[in-house]
Amino acid sequence: MIADLKKLIQKHWGFATFRPLQEDAMRAVLEGRDSVLVLPTGGGKSLCFQAPAVLRGGTTVVISPLIALMKDQVDGLQSCGVPAIQLDSSLSPAERFSYEQDVRDGAIRLLFVSPERLMMAEFQNLCRQIDVKTFAIDEAHCISHWGHDFRPEYRMLSRIKEIFPGANVHAYTATATEQVRADICKQLALTNPLVLVGNFDRPNLTYRVLRRGDVDKQVREVLERRKGESGIIYCLRRRDVDDMAATVKGWGYKAMAYHAGMEGDERRRVQEAFINEESDIIVATIAFGMGIDRSNIRFVLHTSMPKSVEHYQQETGRAGRDGLEAECVLLHSGQDFLTWKAILQKSAMENEVADDFLPNALRHAEDMDRYARGAVCRHKALVNYFGQKYEEPSCAACDLCLGDVEKVEDALVVAQKILSCVARVNERYGVNHVISVLRGEDTERVRQLQHDQLTTFGLLKEHAKTTVRDWIFQLIGQGFLMKSEDEYPVLKLNFASWEVMKGKQTKVQLLQPARKERTERVKRSHADESSWEGVDRDLADALRKWRFELAKQTGKPPYIIFSDATLRELARIRPSTPAKLLLVYGIGTRKIEDFGESLLACITDYCAEHDVPMDVVADAPPPPPKPAKTAAITPSRALAIKLFSEGAAIEDVAEQTGRARTTVTEYLCEYIQRDKPASVAMWVAPAIYNRVAAAVEEHGGARLKPLFIALEEKVPYDDIRIVVAHLNKK
Ligand code: ADP
Ligand code: ZN
Repeated sequence: MIADLKKLIQKHWGFATFRPLQEDAMRAVLEGRDSVLVLPTGGGKSLCFQAPAVLRGGTTVVISPLIALMKDQVDGLQSCGVPAIQLDSSLSPAERFSYEQDVRDGAIRLLFVSPERLMMAEFQNLCRQIDVKTFAIDEAHCISHWGHDFRPEYRMLSRIKEIFPGANVHAYTATATEQVRADICKQLALTNPLVLVGNFDRPNLTYRVLRRGDVDKQVREVLERRKGESGIIYCLRRRDVDDMAATVKGWGYKAMAYHAGMEGDERRRVQEAFINEESDIIVATIAFGMGIDRSNIRFVLHTSMPKSVEHYQQETGRAGRDGLEAECVLLHSGQDFLTWKAILQKSAMENEVADDFLPNALRHAEDMDRYARGAVCRHKALVNYFGQKYEEPSCAACDLCLGDVEKVEDALVVAQKILSCVARVNERYGVNHVISVLRGEDTERVRQLQHDQLTTFGLLKEHAKTTVRDWIFQLIGQGFLMKSEDEYPVLKLNFASWEVMKGKQTKVQLLQPARKERTERVKRSHADESSWEGVDRDLADALRKWRFELAKQTGKPPYIIFSDATLRELARIRPSTPAKLLLVYGIGTRKIEDFGESLLACITDYCAEHDVPMDVVADAPPPPPKPAKTAAITPSRALAIKLFSEGAAIEDVAEQTGRARTTVTEYLCEYIQRDKPASVAMWVAPAIYNRVAAAVEEHGGARLKPLFIALEEKVPYDDIRIVVAHLNKK
């Protein structure tokens, strides 16, 4: 079954392997067990219902909240040679009739509809006629009040099991919280669902937080280092959107504005222009984004703080869906939290809201503020926020790990000064007052309280208010200081604070903005460097133009024709024949039929003209990098690794952990790389090992697909992966 799925994703999508959890998720679909799959944006959720739908035949019904999202998937599927359609209100009666006929004839594998349509008796009859067994619910968090994108029409889906008693239902979402997950299972009345939660890290995204200063200048810096690439600039208010869009256009960029105050037609026009790559930059309020699946967005820039970490994850998540590097820049100021506070209070006054609305919303905003001021790796902070561990010592893809900011050399002493000050004021004052005392401010309040008499008065007088504030929040973020949850929060000490003051705990880190010379040249992240390795950039540009022309001719968005990751690999390998094209990431047989000839002509012409060699055996890493460095963080992983270290067989580990073979093989590779066992004979027969090793010698070990083909498709991918992991460790 799984072997067939692998052949299928190779043939239609041109993918060589599963991503983490895909195999488990697909198996649940094939076995007809209800499931919930939680993977971050770009994690590959859609393949989990698409591929099984093709393999098992019949028709799978997919429910999706927006026509744009459906269209994107339908276009993508059709371009891979998979029969898929959507039934929506835009169809003429004749079109609808003909589509429905196709469905009745059993010619359609995936049928996309809105929740409203699913509730129509007529559509339900159609489903019964063809005996639909499988329903996939995309963006399933829309069913939950707890999610950030509740949609009342999704609530109707709670009747789905009642209406189609024999069917199995699969829910897909990128929203990670436990509460939403449980709510999805409950609302959909899933029966003993398999719940799979992936790793929330997005290693290809580089996160940066800058203190907001001269916004125009800061925005321009980002645009200049991202020239020719596409991105979204988020602003808080509509008027900021219009101003910023005008400014950006004034600098000569192809930019458009988007906000909820615009007419529907105008909004659609802007979206289309962005999707079709006629416009590179969108300046928008957060109204923009849902329904935008353009996979090659290279940067997302927030000109002020979003209202929660969930929103931040969602909005930045739109960057780099193709797995290639992308950058997320947040311009932050201490003012942002106060702005949100005012907005939220106003909204609570003017609308009917639940009692806990305001405290909840404020807590979310405060969490976001804390993230922005934090001194720990951004990847770690985000992943931890969603309840997962982050094991890497450095992400090499955030401002902190890349050294955009500087460590304060005497951090321990500075921390001791701050904490002692909190102790001296008897843990009874808030952040602002403690800052005043530390900076030795001569204010009425300080004098009244006689805090100018304290030994800690003026201890940090040479530092700016914003810097001291940042440090206080950094200490809170690292758990060395606390802030009470009252209406007037005060700073409080804990056990760790006293350990710091006594010098027993010395792991305190504090950051300050790096001195000018160092930030002038923003470092590129590792992902950025490596995915361009060996790529002929001019050819990549030529291919983009080729793709753009083709998009115009076919009326499909460019990224549906080929992803940026595929273009880059083409410009790296420069294949000369259809057979060689098939080795490239993201190219299946249908795309070769449709575009192969014209594509080869484009590459061959370029290489002849510029005297560039073709059919390069690239030793560079395969784009795109996997969205998760490690497979799902679940107890089963630790168990698997332990069992492998005791020499357990793959099948046994799969059985004991309840995970798929591919998944435990990932764990095995992790174990091999980490613990470097001398031999892997336990898992791969020596004869096979030697054959794979010989193939690696010839083709390099960076890409599995050429190895698989070189081994005449006879050695399973799992075996190849194990051998490559073992060779790498040497
Ligand atoms: P999600 O719905 O989780 O946001 P998508 O389904 O849009 O993610 O997939 C993100 C990207 O990853 C797409 O470009 C998709 O083609 C690619 N992808 C999915 N599965 C695989 C795989 N097994 N191997 C390689 N690329 C994959
Ligand atoms: Zn980091």
